[in-house]
Parts: sequence; structure tokens; C-alpha cells
Amino acid sequence: MRKTIVVIGSGAAGLFCADGLVARGDADVILLEAGDDPGTPPPDWMRRDLATPADVDWGHVDADTGRPLLRGRVTGGCTSTNSAAALRGQPWCFDEWGIEGWRWNDVAPYFRALETDAQFGDRPAHGNSGPIPITRLSFGPVDTAFADWAGEQGHAWVEDQNAPGALGVGHWPTNTIDGAVRYGVHEALLPRLRQYLRAGTTAQRLLFDGTRCVGVETSTGVIDADHVVVCAGSVETPALLLRSGIGPAADLAAAGVPLVHDAPGVGANLQDHPWTVLQVRAADPAAPGLRPVNGVLLRYEILADDRVEVHLYPHQAKPYLPGEDAAEVFLGLGLMRAVSRGSVRLAADGSTEVHLNHLGDPQDAKAFDLLLDDAQAALDALGDVLIEPENPWWRDRERLPDHLESYGHLVGTCRMGTDPGAVVDPALAVVGVTGLSVADASIMPVSPRANTMLASMMIGLRGAALVLPE
Ligand SMILES: Cc1cc2nc3c(=O)[nH]c(=O)nc-3n(C[C@H](O)[C@H](O)[C@H](O)COP(=O)(O)OP(=O)(O)OC[C@H]3O[C@@H](n4cnc5c(N)ncnc54)[C@H](O)[C@@H]3O)c2cc1C
Repeated sequence: MRKTIVVIGSGAAGLFCADGLVARGDADVILLEAGDDPGTPPPDWMRRDLATPADVDWGHVDADTGRPLLRGRVTGGCTSTNSAAALRGQPWCFDEWGIEGWRWNDVAPYFRALETDAQFGDRPAHGNSGPIPITRLSFGPVDTAFADWAGEQGHAWVEDQNAPGALGVGHWPTNTIDGAVRYGVHEALLPRLRQYLRAGTTAQRLLFDGTRCVGVETSTGVIDADHVVVCAGSVETPALLLRSGIGPAADLAAAGVPLVHDAPGVGANLQDHPWTVLQVRAADPAAPGLRPVNGVLLRYEILADDRVEVHLYPHQAKPYLPGEDAAEVFLGLGLMRAVSRGSVRLAADGSTEVHLNHLGDPQDAKAFDLLLDDAQAALDALGDVLIEPENPWWRDRERLPDHLESYGHLVGTCRMGTDPGAVVDPALAVVGVTGLSVADASIMPVSPRANTMLASMMIGLRGAALVLPE
């Protein structure tokens, strides 16, 4: 009899996983998405504005700071609300996972398969027939001035930031096309997946017969399944497992959730890239408007220990804040190698708590302080291009905690591994139960030193080959 596989979540990983499972052809696929499906072509806000409308966001906050934590709740998931920076991690990011089958040489073919790189598609490191278009936007005057400054500081010019091992200053790779901000899954994947999609359907609980997952209780009814693949993202995936009885036994007992499997790792190991923006103005109001969003990126190692990589880049403000002054520019600062760990927890009242714990470790605080020094040096040198406001907060480092944000790169809450604490094994099967896999950003043991969309897509694509219903 043909098996039924239910994929939960139509985000970066879920779409690629469902697409791969459909292509495999050996099971019926049902793709659940809690949010709506706005259709193809996607609405104008999704193509052109970087602000996330409240009705397509999960509404989470960091429990410790109360600050909003954006997570897309719509077909495409966070790829529909993100900044379309399409940057790969470094080879050593995957090698250091130390997991057979997930080293750089193993995962690189999947990165190639998912892209069509407009500039470098014919090179061995790249692909030219995948669904995600990757391109680099021409520089505006602010980008050029910033790139010149970075070169004067000794940073190498990098022709291709997605070449393995790239470090230095160069064009942001983006999934941008035709002047639109985001492009990819809504145009290439969703049209062929809609026949399997059930949008507006929230998975509320996984159903078990003993320790065997046999289906999903959803907002619209029960769905029987031979296998369930959870691709709900780094907050909702652990939250769903916890609600379903897979997680730390004490937390589940406190919330009155019957235990299916005691798995202390569910929701632990949360990683993000701490991020902040320095809001400045372009001296020439027309300068930033010459390109839509991502122009120049400087990525470099600010602490030699543990290869602590950072991002520094000027970013046009307007697409984030439609209606705002076009001369506004953000100088973006991202710590791409954080050692602090947060968590996603089930509170006693059954709600989901996210603790980001940004800069909780002194090494992260030190690295971020050095990054602020470098950002200040850039602003001092570029005074005729970028104008600082009166008394900017960043001249008083005590004020940093009020301005620290998430780069949106949450990973690690259902960590893959071969040790007893791992939540999923290297084939993405949830340890301790059967009929259940996880394939999304949450399985990454350690975050790559890059924006996490491409790595999440890679996991979905690779997951489609690994998930085997019994
Ligand atoms: C504001 C923001 C900006 C970002 N910018 C970038 C960027 O520029 N470049 C980059 O590389 N990365 C960026 N990221 C990160 C990147 O988008 C994510 O890492 C990636 O999308 C994660 O993929 P995922 O499949 O794990 O989760 P998601 O893409 O979040 O997909 C999860 C999906 O599951 C659905 N879902 C969740 N729970 C349920 C449920 N119970 N039932 C049914 N469906 C459910 C969600 O609605 C969602 O559609 C950004 C993220 C954010 C939030």
C-alpha cells in the first residue's frame, strides 16, 4: 500500500523537502502550512517591502527582553519575510559538525542543486539549474565608499562571497530578480507543490501509538500518516514536539503533557546571530536609492579563536520601513559565530517561551564590542558619505542591550548528532520514537557563519532523500 508522508511547514526547508519527496514518487505527500497561501505571483509586499506584516508573523518575543522575534507564518515561511541575503556558510562550518554525511563535501552538491547563480553558475562551486536565482546587485555610491574603506583597512576584495572560504569585502549574493526584493520559492516551487498543500492548517499535536508517530492533530482535523516530517522552524518545531510529549520530562510534567519520550535536548541549544543596526543618513539623499537592498558585504574574522566571523554592511533602510525617508541607511553589524546558547521552552501554562540569551557569553560580548569599534571607525572615515545623528546610542556602549536584535537566524533547537543528547540522528529521524523526522534549521548542531536560509533549504532537500517511512 502507498504510504502517506505529512510534511509540517512550507518554509525554506519544508518546501524543498516536500518537493524532493514528491519527486521521489514512492509516497503520497501532504504539506501543511499554518499560515495562508497568498498565491503566485506573491503580493507586492512580499516582493518589494522588507517589513513583515503582523498577520504573517507568529508574534513571538524574546522572553528576557520582551523584544519582538519575527518568524514568518505564511507559505514560504521566513523566506517570504526575510532580507533575501543568499549567503552560504563556510566549508568549516559543516565540517565542524563532525557528522558523517554532513561535511562540506557532502552538502555542497545540495547548495549547488538549489541555485541558479547568474554570475558564477558555470563555476564548479555553483549551480545553474536550481529553483533559487542568485544574483549580485550593482553598487550605489554608499556601497562603493564602504568597499573602498574596507580595502584601505586591508580586507581583500572578494569577487564571489559564496565561493568556499570567501572572507573580505564584495557584493552580497541575493535571491533578488527584476528589482524585486525576494524571489524564489513562490515562483519556482509553490506552483508545482500547491496540489499537495493545505494552507491555513496548523499542526497542533503529533499523535502516537506508544512511541510510533501515526498522525497529526491539526486545526482542521486529524490526518493519519505513515511518517511525519516536521519542518516548522527553530521555534515551532521544538514547540510542537514539546506539546506532543517529546522533550524534557520535568517541563512536560509541569505543563501536564503526557510523556512520549524524555528528550532533554528538545528546545535546548538555541543559537542566533546577534545583530544591531546603526541608523545613519546618506549625505546624498539619492545615493542609497540606486539599488533596492543588499549591495556590499564585509565578512571577516574579528577573533582568531574559534574563527569568530562578523558581518558589517550598509543597508538601505527604506525597503524595511516603507514610507520612511529614502536617505536613511542602516549600518548592519552581525556576530556570525556566537557561543552563547538560548532555549525554546514549554512554560507550565503550555505556552512557548523563547530565550535568545544574546551575548550571554563574555566571548560574544567582547567580539561585539570590537565590531562596534570597527563600525565606528567606518563611520568616522566615511563622514562625508554617511552622517551620524546627534548623540547616537552606539557612542555609549552601555546602551547596546537596548539595541541588540535577532538577525533572524535561529537554529539548533532539535540538534542532530550521534551522542545520547541529540534530538535527531544523522538520517534526521527523531531519536526514541519511530515514524517521525525533523528537517529544518532546528537540526543544525552549530550555526553556520552566514545567513541561514540556504543552509535550511539544503537540509530540506537532503532530508527528502533521507526520510524513509517504515
Ligand atoms: C526577519 C528575518 C530576516 C531574515 N533574513 C535572512 C536573509 O536575508 N537571508 C537568509 O539566508 N536568512 C534570513 N533569515 C533566516 C531564514 O529565513 C531562516 O533561517 C529560514 O527560513 C529557516 O527555514 P525553516 O524551514 O527552518 O523555517 P521557516 O522558513 O520559518 O518555515 C517554517 C514554516 O512552518 C510553518 N509552521 C510552523 N509551525 C507550524 C505548525 N504547527 N503547523 C503548520 N505549519 C507550521 C511556518 O508558518 C513556516 O511557514 C531571516 C529570518 C527572519 C525572521
